[in-house]
Amino acid sequence: MKTTPAMRVPLVDLAAQHAEVDEEIQAGLKDVFARTAFIGGTHVDEFEESYAQWLGSRHCIGVGNGTDALELALRACGVEPGSEVILPANTFIATAEVVSRMGGRPVLADVDPKHLLIDPQSVQQAAGPNTQALMPVHLFGQTAPVEQLEATARRFGSVMIEDAAQSQGAERFGRRAGTLGDAAGTSFYPGKNLGAAGDAGAVLTSSAVIADRVRLLSDHGSKVKYLHEVPGMNSRLDAVQAVVLSAKLARLDAWNERRRAAASYYGELLSGIAGLVLPATAEGNTDVWHIYAVRVPAAERNRVLEALTGAGIAAAIHYPVPVHLTAAYAHLGYGPGDFPVSEDAAARLISLPIYPHLERDQQEYVAATLAEALR
Ligand SMILES: *Cc1c(COP(=O)(O)O)cnc(C)c1O
Repeated sequence: MKTTPAMRVPLVDLAAQHAEVDEEIQAGLKDVFARTAFIGGTHVDEFEESYAQWLGSRHCIGVGNGTDALELALRACGVEPGSEVILPANTFIATAEVVSRMGGRPVLADVDPKHLLIDPQSVQQAAGPNTQALMPVHLFGQTAPVEQLEATARRFGSVMIEDAAQSQGAERFGRRAGTLGDAAGTSFYPGKNLGAAGDAGAVLTSSAVIADRVRLLSDHGSKVKYLHEVPGMNSRLDAVQAVVLSAKLARLDAWNERRRAAASYYGELLSGIAGLVLPATAEGNTDVWHIYAVRVPAAERNRVLEALTGAGIAAAIHYPVPVHLTAAYAHLGYGPGDFPVSEDAAARLISLPIYPHLERDQQEYVAATLAEALR
């Protein structure tokens, strides 16, 4: 017989977030519909400006989603079809997909065992004369050690494109993720730290030339209607999303602060449990905890995950299969054992619920359930 869980804890709670901004959004939407300027226009311009300013980047170009943003960043930086782009094996598939989409070849690097961020040593080994770009991923709301990739980038003349989809507001030595490379792509997928009401994303750069090129490519290769300079694509931010994003951006620092408080409370509640490895903040980093990923023994993982879900706790795995072991990327020719840290993480990770409106009693319930499952 199934018992009813004592509590339900979602992985993210978008309803609580939405309740805070509902009035503002309704007013903004009314204005959008009154103007019927649905794509581009003042709401989009205003959001782009305030996001760039908030981040400390010169330019923000709103686009259709985070995947497009990364592809546009690569193309705008002049990365050519046939070239190699280095990215971590432990990431969401989109990081690899964008390289395939622009005709490049994803070359993988492993991650460091402590933070699961791209390992500069592994990048150095993977780099070669055909490496036109390095694509560090600011995974889980941390910032990758980009400064340790600079020597490799310089040596091969590669550009650095940050995958900043999970890191809105994260900092490394006082500078925000998304401002540390030649360009960055970020995602406003609803579940991200800054989420739209549908798909949306942005390219960030401090280069006017790259920004111009992103605008050109994202709007059918044209600056003047029907004058198409290059084959481009259609990937634009719409006004409805800009309204939602502007309302949430005003609260993002406070929401990130609440995520940090939640992460620190998990740290307290879960310390000293045998077999449990907690996430740790790297030196110089201020994390924004997009994901709170713990590691348990591989042999226990599925059982622990079932115990959590059975207790009404929506835990997840980010990510169950590293890029090189997916069917989509079998053609790269890698195999099991090639990226041992990423493979080990994939077998042991469990993401616990984390979001700004997570309550302390919910965290206590998650921690107690997890501790019990590991006993
Ligand atoms: C979400 C995400 C993306 C893609 O963003 P979309 O908006 O879903 O296209 C890319 N990289 C990482 C690491 C992500 O988490």
